[in-house]
Formats: sequence, structure tokens, C-alpha cells
Amino acid sequence: MNEEQLRRRRRLRRQQQRKRRRRIFYILCILFLVIIFTILRGIVAHFSRTSNHAQANVALWYIQQLDREKSGDPDRSNVFYSSIEELSNIARDKLTAFNFTLAKNSNHIQAAEKYAYSTKKIREITEGKLDYTGKKIAFLTFDDGPNNTITPQVLDTLKDRQVPATFFLVGRNLGSKHEDTLRRILREGHGIAMHSLSHDYSKLYPGRFGNADRIRYEAQETQKLLKEFFGPDFHSSVWRYPGGHQSWKELGSSDDALAKLGVQWIDWNCLVGDAQPKSDRPTTSEGQVQYVHKSLKLNKQTRIAVVLAHDAENKQLTADSVNKLIDYFKDNGYEFGILK
Ligand SMILES: [Zn+2]
Repeated sequence: MNEEQLRRRRRLRRQQQRKRRRRIFYILCILFLVIIFTILRGIVAHFSRTSNHAQANVALWYIQQLDREKSGDPDRSNVFYSSIEELSNIARDKLTAFNFTLAKNSNHIQAAEKYAYSTKKIREITEGKLDYTGKKIAFLTFDDGPNNTITPQVLDTLKDRQVPATFFLVGRNLGSKHEDTLRRILREGHGIAMHSLSHDYSKLYPGRFGNADRIRYEAQETQKLLKEFFGPDFHSSVWRYPGGHQSWKELGSSDDALAKLGVQWIDWNCLVGDAQPKSDRPTTSEGQVQYVHKSLKLNKQTRIAVVLAHDAENKQLTADSVNKLIDYFKDNGYEFGILK
């Protein structure tokens, strides 16, 4: 074998080695891609499972309600439904029916659309920025719920009188123990509004000045909790600042931050006085109605009434007054609406 042949053979061997290394490199690349793809698919599957779970949860509740209604026994326990997973197929069918009733991207069911009014418009009317000569509309609003003591009593009266209201819920109250009450609010045709996550003045308004970052965060978190209950089609555009917009300084950038989230704030133009200082707080239902009457009369525009009341756990008097409050507005020619 001469020198030339030896060189050629070595070159050939080097080429083969290079080829082999390239092949290994390609195989490793493919393996790497397969691993990445598998991981990504796992992540996506996890999130869609979580959202399916939330949806199935809503549907499960819906089936349970139908079951209770059919049996006529409100306390009927759900012995058949041992696990959400087991039910998921039926649940998803039923969920379609449930979603059908939720107006898309809104805080109310479709049936409530005919008496749902734009929060921004109603706010501007009460502020005197918009003229209004239309029909008289009362917006009953209840802050600080939900709970399982006062809220259900308020709901019972509203249902009895076929009157809708708007509930300004505090995010920290949206735990599973209030689920039934929460779903009743939506299902019985009321509007769901946000009243912060913490209701903590020191976090929301340190030194009495609005903290826009904190307020944005609390609105986002509360919205997220509501979506977990009601599914991805739910969105509340309605916000009331704890303590009221009128009570704090420099809320401009907070208002802007909320607007960017598709959320509008609203205060009130009359109140039952159930959160007034003791010396000024009515102690009877008649007193609360009188308080509404007097505070409404202080406005130039009285065709729109946004009524502040509270359904917190210590507001039994307010729950007892709802009937008389409805009488007052009906007697004075008002219809009832919800804020959207
Ligand atoms: Zn409040």
C-alpha cells in the first residue's frame, strides 16, 4: 500500500466519522424536540384540565339544582354524584345549557339583559354629566357579600317580588362555602359587581391616596375568582371602591387602570344608611326607607336612583327592609335595573 492509498483511506475514515457524528447530532436534536414537545403538551393539557374542571364544577352545581328542584327537596344531598370526573360528560352537556343563559362576556344571564344598564352611563347621569329624561329606574345595590346569612334573605325577598339588584362582592368572600349563594345571585337574574379583593382601606388607599397598582391587582384577582366560578364567558365590568370613590384622594390613575381592564366604577346617589355612624344610622325599616327618600331628594337628578345598602353578616335590618324599599320605589313609579 503506497502513501497515496494510505492517505485516501484515512480521509475516507475521517469522512465516515464525521457522517456518524452528524447522524448522532441529528438524532439528539430530534430527541430534544420530542422531549420539549411532550413537556409543552403536558402543560397545555394541565391548563385545559383545570378549566374543564372549573366548567364541570359549574355544570355539576347546575345538575344538582335541577335535581333539588325536581325532587322539591332543597336539602337533598347528591348521593349519585360522587365525583366531578365521573360526571364530566353529562356535565359538559349541561354546561352548554348553563352557558346559554349567561350573556357572553357579562355579569348577568341573558334573561337579565333587558333590564341591564351601562355602569358608565348611569354614573354619568348621577354625576349630572349626562342629561336624562327617560323612565325612572332604581338600582338596588348590596355591598360586602356574599355570605350565607344575610345574602340569601335578600335574595329570597327579591325573588318573591321579582325585583333584580346588583351585588358588589368582595373577592375574599368568594370561597367555596359561599358557592351556592354566589350562583343563586347570577341564576336569579341579578348583576355581579366587584368591590375589591381585600376591602382593606390601608392597602387600597395608603394615607388616603389611591394606590393604582394595588387597585388594579385586586380587580384582576377578584375577576379571576369570579371566572373560576362562572366559566370563561363571565366578565364583570362593574366596580365600587370600598368606602366610595368620593371618600379618597387622587383616584384618577386607578380609574384609568380599571378602564383598561374593561371595568367602570360607580358610587351611589342615595342610601339606606346602614353603614352610617351610629348616631345617624336608622334603627327601623321605615327609618331606612326615609333615609333613602331624604338622600335621593338631595340630588338634582332623581329619575335614576342608585341605592347603597349592605348585605354583610351584621346587616339583618337591611335584609328586613328590602320589601319596604321595593314598595317605596314601586309607589313612586320606578322600575328596577341592574348595572352591567
Ligand atoms: Zn364595602
